[in-house]
Amino acid sequence: MPSIDEPEPQRSLKRITWQYENCLSCVWFKPNDPLNADILERGMCVHSKFKEYQLVVSGRDWCNLFTEVRQRQIDKLQEGAAD
Ligand code: SF4
Repeated sequence: MPSIDEPEPQRSLKRITWQYENCLSCVWFKPNDPLNADILERGMCVHSKFKEYQLVVSGRDWCNLFTEVRQRQIDKLQEGAAD
């Protein structure tokens, strides 16, 4: 619970902690624009359980199949998009 004495930036940061473990940081998320992807970015979820549905999600969505993406995969995706 945020303290009333806490400065506003700290209180705001605590309110957005739910964004951890969402599609944006999931290994199965393929953003339309990998270079500028943020929580509002849309893209395909390519998890094998969802692939047949061609599921489009946003960076702030989430499900219980979440698997954290590694920085190496993000770098590879961004390098591919920059070519
Ligand atoms: S819907 Fe689930 S599996 Fe797909 S990208 Fe989001 S968290 Fe990952």
